Amino acid sequence: MSRAKPIATFVTRNNELVGVYPGFLGGNTLIKAKSIGNGAIELTHKCMCCNVYYHQCPIIQSIIWYYSVYLKQGISGFNWVQKKVVLNLEWEQIPIPALDEGAV
Ligand SMILES: [Zn+2]
Repeated sequence: MSRAKPIATFVTRNNELVGVYPGFLGGNTLIKAKSIGNGAIELTHKCMCCNVYYHQCPIIQSIIWYYSVYLKQGISGFNWVQKKVVLNLEWEQIPIPALDEGAV
């Protein structure tokens, strides 16, 4: 199974990572990941997919992976805050985090 890939990623002033993903029913859906210490993170996200089925849509696992690449550390666990994330113009767009395949 392939991992959901963000269309764009942003960082906030607090070093949170925001992923913009294609929405389940069109449009975009956003998810925000925030480090809360000891390798744990807090996710903020709400969308139709999660709402209707009340389960974790694929972008939850996806943003955990991208945030761990961004932070260059493992993620030990996460809390999920079911709240919609709205794009903020103060966020800085960054290249989508990728593993550095060339690194030794
Ligand atoms: Zn969702």
